Amino acid sequence: MSKIGERCSFCGREKRDTNMLIAGLSAHICDYCITQAQLIMEEEMAAKSQKHTPDYTLLKPVEIKKYLDQYVIGQDEAKRILSVAVYNHYKRIFHAKKAKEEDVEIEKSNIILVGETGTGKTLLARTIAKMLHVPFCIADATVLTEAGYVGEDVESILSRLLQVADYNIAAAERGIVFIDEIDKIARKSDNPSITRDVSGEGVQQALLKLLEGAIVNVPPQGGRKHPEQKMIQINTQNILFITGGAFDGIEKKIGTRLQTNMIGYTVDKSKQTLDKENLLQYVSPVDLKSYGLIPELVGRLPIVTFMHSLDRETLRKILTEPKNSLVKQFTKLFEMDNIKLSFEEEALNFIVDKSIEFKLGARGLRSILEAVMTDAMFELPSKNTTKTLRISVALVEEKFQLTTIARLKVA
Ligand code: ADP
Repeated sequence: MSKIGERCSFCGREKRDTNMLIAGLSAHICDYCITQAQLIMEEEMAAKSQKHTPDYTLLKPVEIKKYLDQYVIGQDEAKRILSVAVYNHYKRIFHAKKAKEEDVEIEKSNIILVGETGTGKTLLARTIAKMLHVPFCIADATVLTEAGYVGEDVESILSRLLQVADYNIAAAERGIVFIDEIDKIARKSDNPSITRDVSGEGVQQALLKLLEGAIVNVPPQGGRKHPEQKMIQINTQNILFITGGAFDGIEKKIGTRLQTNMIGYTVDKSKQTLDKENLLQYVSPVDLKSYGLIPELVGRLPIVTFMHSLDRETLRKILTEPKNSLVKQFTKLFEMDNIKLSFEEEALNFIVDKSIEFKLGARGLRSILEAVMTDAMFELPSKNTTKTLRISVALVEEKFQLTTIARLKVA
């Protein structure tokens, strides 16, 4: 029998009716009340954080670009265009009320980046999100399907954003979503399909809803595995969508368009300096349409820009120049073991050469460098005698020969 008075001071339950009764100075609390209190606290905290408007310092386009320059090498056109787009996007949010009063509603400016894989599209989007301190998530368009089909519903993109925002709806509603491989949902032929096109046009239609700014019902945990979950409503009006894709073969369409544009006009030949090697720089919404994006979707991605393919000089810079370049990262890792790491210039050039030779782009730099450094990273921390490590070209060559990349060539 419990002593008289040993009951929860909040709900009055006797000790024997509880799983646990915790004693304070002059009161008791039972496990039920603790759980209840916890829930109340969580709700209150969530409500508070939603009311709180994050403090974004609005950087000017030039400052935004400067920030991007620290992390992304080259890609000046894309950086300039993105800087302006992001600046306008946030200006639009900040001044939404005033603009509305004055009847000038500034429209959203979602972005599409066209460029080969590994040229820094994701990096750009990620760096922007880091700078702005807003929730950011990456979605892959290839896994999306129309509702009701195997795969992910487009709403799952917003579930991810919500998760990243710690379920702070207000923060999520100002976030940035990067949708990769948007070219993979292009419809396969120019004719609008009569039959169902689950992975192409249907998904584009579904995406359209998110992009144009709507209130969308989002399953907080994503997916369809939890049919009982309560939907959360998210307004996508202020979410910035940056999309990217390689659009393999789009140069041909650009070329054809430019050719036909020229026919029928009297062209002053001296003024025409068409850079035929880099047709991507002339990409326009028309080309995206002829590639298979539906006109409505293209209309919702008004800012079209492109990424250069990475040449030798850029790759070499990527190794050492960005604020968190690979070389800086490895140097830091070794520094933690009190080892001073350095590279021969030739060794770095060799890594760049191999990355180009095997068409691995910037991602290849990491794979090769990882392969070169693994043994040292394995052995040196246990050897207290080694205090410096200089990576020579001979060492890089030797380690590279053992990699699967090098073996590819033999096969
Ligand atoms: P994409 O999204 O275009 O396929 P990513 O942004 O994922 O390419 O780039 C892959 C990796 O290559 C990045 O993590 C980054 O380390 C590196 N990289 C690519 N382009 C650049 C660049 N222009 N400047 C710095 N690093 C780059």
